[in-house]
Amino acid sequence: MSAPAASIVPKEHVGLSGAEAARRLAEHGRNEIQRGETRSAWGVLLEQFRSPMIALLLGACAVSALLGEHADAIAIGAIVVLNALIGFAQESRAERALLALRSMTAPRARVMRDGYAVQLPAAEVVPGDVLLLEAGDIVAADARLYEAHALATNEAALTGESAPVDKAARPVAGDAPLAQRTDTVFLGTAVTRGTGLAEVQATGMSTELGKIAHLLASTGETETPLQKRLEQVTRTLLMACGVVVVLVAALGLWHGEGWMGVLLSSISLAVAAVPEGLPAVVTIALALGVQRMAAKHALVRRLQAVETLGSATVVCTDKTGTLTTGTMEVREVWGPDERAVLFTSAACCDASLGPDGKEGTGDPTELALLRAALAKGIRREELEGERPRVKVRPFDSETKRMSVLRADGVLYVKGALEVLLPRCRAGTEGAVEATRTLAGRGLRVLAVARGQGEEEEGLELLGLVGMADPPRPEAVEAVAAARAAGVRTVMITGDSPETALAIGRELGIVRPGEDAAELIHARVTAEDKLRIVRRWKERGEVVAMTGDGVNDAPALREAHIGIAMGRTGTEVTREAADLVLTDDNFATIITAIREGRAIYENIRKTLVYLLVGNVGELTVMLAASLVGLPLPLLPLQLLWINLVTDSLPALALVMDPARAELLSRPPRRPEEPMLGGHQWRHILLVGALEAAVVLGVFIWADPEQHVERARALAFSTLVFAELLRAFAARSATRIFWEVGPLTNRLLLGIVLFSAGLQVAIYELPAARGLFGLGALHTWELGLTFALGLIPVTALELSKLLRRGFPHHPSPSGRGTG
Ligand code: ADP
Ligand code: MG
Repeated sequence: MSAPAASIVPKEHVGLSGAEAARRLAEHGRNEIQRGETRSAWGVLLEQFRSPMIALLLGACAVSALLGEHADAIAIGAIVVLNALIGFAQESRAERALLALRSMTAPRARVMRDGYAVQLPAAEVVPGDVLLLEAGDIVAADARLYEAHALATNEAALTGESAPVDKAARPVAGDAPLAQRTDTVFLGTAVTRGTGLAEVQATGMSTELGKIAHLLASTGETETPLQKRLEQVTRTLLMACGVVVVLVAALGLWHGEGWMGVLLSSISLAVAAVPEGLPAVVTIALALGVQRMAAKHALVRRLQAVETLGSATVVCTDKTGTLTTGTMEVREVWGPDERAVLFTSAACCDASLGPDGKEGTGDPTELALLRAALAKGIRREELEGERPRVKVRPFDSETKRMSVLRADGVLYVKGALEVLLPRCRAGTEGAVEATRTLAGRGLRVLAVARGQGEEEEGLELLGLVGMADPPRPEAVEAVAAARAAGVRTVMITGDSPETALAIGRELGIVRPGEDAAELIHARVTAEDKLRIVRRWKERGEVVAMTGDGVNDAPALREAHIGIAMGRTGTEVTREAADLVLTDDNFATIITAIREGRAIYENIRKTLVYLLVGNVGELTVMLAASLVGLPLPLLPLQLLWINLVTDSLPALALVMDPARAELLSRPPRRPEEPMLGGHQWRHILLVGALEAAVVLGVFIWADPEQHVERARALAFSTLVFAELLRAFAARSATRIFWEVGPLTNRLLLGIVLFSAGLQVAIYELPAARGLFGLGALHTWELGLTFALGLIPVTALELSKLLRRGFPHHPSPSGRGTG
């Protein structure tokens, strides 16, 4: 045996050897287009100083320096720099996570290596590789065609022309304009139909696309709608704060205070009002969420999807390979001559088995046929040698059939029975009944026929093949979980209605008494998919749609969440998708929906947690200046609270693990604001309570006489109140031990750490001096801790109380969990 046994193509198409390919990869470099879109580290760092908040703080720093408060100025400056560094670290981490994701969804290509078809990252394709093309591929390099069957590509990416261009192996003049080079396929263009074999001429920046790479706008998707909305919240707060500051300043001047004092209190107010930690918290929540989802086989290609996922109400999913395992097995062959049926199926295949005769590349349906044929001693490679292909009409889910004309003059055909029946003139008795029986058992049925000459007419039906493609066990659970979460599962398949219904029942997609017509769509084409998405959208549903086929891209784009299959899906659908499933598994979609909900809820409750703190601080400062008291808290103290003792617990809050009950609630309405009436009420009430406690202790300590001691008490009370409240913030309905104090150990650790830090400030005279605090007795520190317990206790009690009145549905039912 000289040539590799499993080679299915003529000798010149055996492809490169692995060693040769490695050598060429070193010589020509990776097959990648450089787009110069990555930001430099310095750029990211500088960006941290560009927010209005930082400008304000730097202003505060300058004013403090002017006022001669050098210690304050240095401390504020240090906190600003620290904040920028933390922001920088978080953003770089987030960016790295997203980059890693992008490389996981990087394009792939199929090439011949050492005589076998293999799939590899497109970046590893080298000049001289033999590229295998089929509908749905994105061409991985510029390549000259050896062979083309009904091949057409869409070259819009290159020429702007959106109509598919027919391709053929017939050479054209090398200097022809790009649009007329029909013997060449180009990197980045999409195969819209047909199959082909081509030799790679150029890769990476030497390709036609590479030459115009600098013209390509980078798709700058930098902010999600959520981040934009949060920015708006921050802006609104800044504005409100501006008004209050002006008010207080005017009041102070009217009271006859010096302008220095007025300036100081204005700055304090501004610092108090703004939730500095917010942007970082959101970035972290999204980046970590996306990483967590990736670990669970869901790759997010667009960040918006994270948010939309949580509110999905309908998931339209392919059956084959997603709800089912997709590893098919021939269970039954119907027909007078079993061998003829299998021989013909094997002669009409594009897939090829690997050396072990089990695994292979190509359509799982065809691999199953090839395995069944091999068991009868029929090898596709031998068949290709004896009677090479003359003409191929590849399978596509629109025509639902495939035919191959071979050198022996015989046309080998397979496809859905109702498509072949009108084309057959013999062998059809009993076929319809047999199909119904097989399909009723949930088997996927393929009809096999044979003819003479090129035309798909006057065929002889040889028989039927029934293939088992059992439901994934976890899909049954996932369908039930989706139902409990208020998410409908809609099954979509190209299979026959009988097969679809049988599988749909097994999966629990339709239950007795339910209307199957809405939930199960059989013999579906790509246009049907688009129609199905639109119909659900018109009803106001939030629709997720999976796709793998060449024509599915429009439906994926039309859906709120387009989902592509990472393993079996085509490159075209992966490009169009928001989410890629690396395991092609329906259950993963439901997991992703749960994570999406968790991320949203976490951001919401963290936002509420932070805003309560800001409102509390603002109220303290405002009330004190209205009644003419000294400033209860200094700018540096407020900064410390906002950037350290509030932001750290917030980081832990936003990483709260997803809880199971997130899937026992109906989805959030997409139009529901992140902060609704209930959230604002909560923020204002709890903020006011906290302010009352802090002001109370401040006034009790007689600030007119001992301002530093009074501030020390107020500061400490506020910090403890904030730290302790973090435990209550985890859920709007359940008290902290119901949530489980140990389920978020990070939060526990951070609160202990921050409390320790707080005590340290009081114990170290230098730190006390820096913060402008008087010394406290240990019992006084204990007192502030006890006072700090008031807001959290009130919160938890109110949760219990609300439960006592079941007639009043909890307004927070869909709230912060
Ligand atoms: P789905 O992927 O949604 O299950 P397909 O569009 O792949 O549906 O298949 C639809 C029908 O087309 C199948 O029921 C079968 O009869 C036929 N079919 C599927 N794969 C092939 C193929 N490779 N060659 C010929 N016919 C096929
Ligand atoms: Mg299919």
